[in-house]
Amino acid sequence: MIEEFSFRTRTQNLQKLKERNFDFLIIGGGITGAAVAKEASQRGFTVALVEKHDFAYGTSSRSSKLIHGGLRYLENFEFKLVFEALGERAWLLKKIPELVKPLVFFLPVYQSHPRNMKILSLGLWLYDFLSLFRSYRFHKKISKEKFLKEFPFLKQEGLLGGFTYYDALMWDDGLVVETLRQAHCLGASIANYVEATSPIWQGERIVGFRVKDLEQTENAEISIHANTVISCVGPWTDELGVHVSQTWKAELNPSKGVHIVFDFKKVPVPGALIMSHPSDGRVAFVIPRKDLGDGVVIVGTTDGPTPLDPEKATIEKQDIEYLLNLLGIYFPDLNLSVSDVISAYVGVRPLLTGTSGSEGQNLLQKVSREHVIWRGQGGVVFVAGGKYTTHRKMAQEIIKVASKDYNFGNNVKPSLKRQNSITCQQT
Ligand SMILES: Cc1cc2nc3c(=O)[nH]c(=O)nc-3n(C[C@H](O)[C@H](O)[C@H](O)COP(=O)(O)OP(=O)(O)OC[C@H]3O[C@@H](n4cnc5c(N)ncnc54)[C@H](O)[C@@H]3O)c2cc1C
Repeated sequence: MIEEFSFRTRTQNLQKLKERNFDFLIIGGGITGAAVAKEASQRGFTVALVEKHDFAYGTSSRSSKLIHGGLRYLENFEFKLVFEALGERAWLLKKIPELVKPLVFFLPVYQSHPRNMKILSLGLWLYDFLSLFRSYRFHKKISKEKFLKEFPFLKQEGLLGGFTYYDALMWDDGLVVETLRQAHCLGASIANYVEATSPIWQGERIVGFRVKDLEQTENAEISIHANTVISCVGPWTDELGVHVSQTWKAELNPSKGVHIVFDFKKVPVPGALIMSHPSDGRVAFVIPRKDLGDGVVIVGTTDGPTPLDPEKATIEKQDIEYLLNLLGIYFPDLNLSVSDVISAYVGVRPLLTGTSGSEGQNLLQKVSREHVIWRGQGGVVFVAGGKYTTHRKMAQEIIKVASKDYNFGNNVKPSLKRQNSITCQQT
């Protein structure tokens, strides 16, 4: 039986948030917070989690919805990152098949492509190898004729042929809710529409947060006490940081990613297509999602500066034009225009100033999407960055850091006893 995780359990959990003293208070109900809540609960820690909007309101519902090893990271020799992500891809495909499914990718190779067929073939062998040959299917070289049979509307001029390989598609917000449900099953007290407002200090340490129940107009303030507070607010890290420390310096140099959405009938692609923009070499995807509504195709993403406040990330005319131009190059006969775009969404990457710097957009594209974990004032653990694909690994690292000091000794509790005593369905 699937254990209930609903508005009813929210009411019960709010009561627990008031009464208990937790090991961890997690702020933020995106995939990072959800994964940390599950990981900590599995290890026998007591966990509280608050999210100020609905779950997955932030970057976690605005992604490309792919579980992937990151083929392009091979260009930067980031083998460890790719190996880890491919391992997680295999795990997610096996354990959560309702939300994560294999997806074929087509990589067209033109005469103008910066890498020739041999180098690309080598890269794809390496990709299969790093997955320990657990790919849904291995990569294949395909001829120009075969490519055009699959994509009759693809630009023909200069096409040499290409490759197919497999990664996976997913339901991003569904994955967050399912991970939170599992954490709830394991005993975590979780509530949405609860905003963390100000820390509770005890000497040099922060031992909890005052939060506001946004569903209430009266008596909305609650104090949640916890041994360690973990900030998983992604692009809101600087906004929360100023509440933690008066001397907080901006840590983020955020970058926004816009996706546009078409009716599948307008762009009837047999699998995902990889495109490379001639102006800046950036890679973007055309991703078929027949499982969303009546069937859609998602195209993205862009990568550019955005205000520090994630709520101010906007979709500009030039973002849509950038993606439409790219589609015009690859699919000239489809004549796609703004009027064909049925929807668009924007997500914010919480890149750190330390790595992204102020040197502008080119550098933003080179920055690896690996995460950073650090301990801030009062002992609050902050985390920013990362990928959906590696959320479990990231959560393990966060718990390792968060449980290092402050009464826990140097080791993460290895106990899985609580997990074994839980009867609800979980992965
Ligand atoms: C355009 C784009 C496409 C991407 N595509 C992919 C992909 O295809 N595959 C992949 O693996 N990765 C992808 N990623 C990366 C992935 O989406 C992110 O790493 C991940 O979603 C980050 O999740 P998060 O939980 O850290 O942050 P968020 O999802 O932003 O969650 C932070 C949460 O904190 C809450 N919050 C903020 N302040 C408070 C407060 N004071 N109190 C309570 N709650 C608060 C917010 O409401 C928000 O819900 C993509 C990223 C972007 C930007």
